[in-house]
Amino acid sequence: MSNFIRNIKGTKDILPLDSRLWLETESIIHNFMSLHGYDLIRTPVFEKTELFNRSIGENTDIVNKEMYTWIDRDGTSLTLSPESTASVVRSYIQNQLGNLSPIQRLYYIDSSFRRERPQKGRQRQFTQYGVEAIGSNHPEQDAEVILIAFRIYQMLGIDDLEVNINSIGSQESRAKYIDALKKFLIPYKSKLSTISQDRLESNPLRILDSKSKKDLEIIKDAPSISDYLNQEDKSNFNAIQELLKVLDIPFKINTNLVRGLDYYNGMIFEIISNSIGAQSALCGGGRYDKLIEQLGGKPTPAVGFAAGLERLMLILKTQSDNLVHSVDIYIISSSDKFISKSIAIGDTLRNRLGIKVINETLRRSMRSQMREANKINAQFVIIVGQEDVATDEVIIKNMKDGSQINASVDEIENYFGVDYEYK
Ligand code: AMP
Repeated sequence: MSNFIRNIKGTKDILPLDSRLWLETESIIHNFMSLHGYDLIRTPVFEKTELFNRSIGENTDIVNKEMYTWIDRDGTSLTLSPESTASVVRSYIQNQLGNLSPIQRLYYIDSSFRRERPQKGRQRQFTQYGVEAIGSNHPEQDAEVILIAFRIYQMLGIDDLEVNINSIGSQESRAKYIDALKKFLIPYKSKLSTISQDRLESNPLRILDSKSKKDLEIIKDAPSISDYLNQEDKSNFNAIQELLKVLDIPFKINTNLVRGLDYYNGMIFEIISNSIGAQSALCGGGRYDKLIEQLGGKPTPAVGFAAGLERLMLILKTQSDNLVHSVDIYIISSSDKFISKSIAIGDTLRNRLGIKVINETLRRSMRSQMREANKINAQFVIIVGQEDVATDEVIIKNMKDGSQINASVDEIENYFGVDYEYK
């Protein structure tokens, strides 16, 4: 394998045994979104770099060191999308979706790209699903977004969840708080971790997010954002909490919760699971009322979340025993001269009954074909061209109970048409 070309570090193939679970989960997400009145939006995988610089923020990890950026042949700087909100908002403005309806409920399932250090639950290409509710600044919209994020996990049977919420207030409240936080931290600067020392200048709020023990010890006495919220921030945040209680969504207020992207204001939230290791954040989101204006649209309030599908899969894989490849019928030919008949039977059954039928194409011995049928968990086997069976008949074998019958080709369809429905 010396000249073999491997995949790129931090990317993963989704192999057939897993892709079944992926498809099922994606289909649950699509249905779930539709149930809540959200419509799918698909945006391009790359955009002008400036879109991400202006939305995510120049001083964030994503923009500073994680984007896959290149100069295109015409000199334009382009970037593989590191998250989807910026693209969705760009599309919302460009296509004047606001004119169609004052509230746009959008969702996506798309690839994101970040040059992070790969580890369990952290990849360089990963999949995010998420919603963007654009148009309402009311707390019920925040609650709806949290509800969707939370209920998907609940519906999938994941119970060990923690919903953390916080309010980082309006731009003005936040500016005052950042000032106070900096003043508090400056005397401790030399005791902070190196990364937090850098952040003290570039993005002090992110220090609250630090995992370093040294930092945590200092931060625990830092001023709290909750003391800097204005009346409107506070009453919005309270109203959201009241709605979450009505909806029976357990939550924790975490005043140290900040998000790695600059565009948030007001309510932010994160859902974590303690069963998937260090990368425990399943989903994060919040309000971003200024972003649309900032990207050139009319001032429009918005709230959304993004959730990682790979991390969700990590949990679902440990829960699922439904990974066995299973087919309805495996068709076996006793010799090469029955191949065309077998193929025709397979085609008819699939088309007329919509059931999953696989034809043998390796020309293996009867014994190997039977073994294959067992391996792929076939419910029935049809044997075409068995010696002591009339020429126009086949054997239908029920693999569950071992019983078998002879049937004419015309009867096969009837047999499965009736029998299959009541199974
Ligand atoms: P963010 O856009 O950073 O708020 O991330 C939202 C969610 O996407 C996180 O909670 C994770 O579930 C997922 N996520 C973010 N970065 C990665 C990554 N590098 N690999 C896998 N999942 C990720």
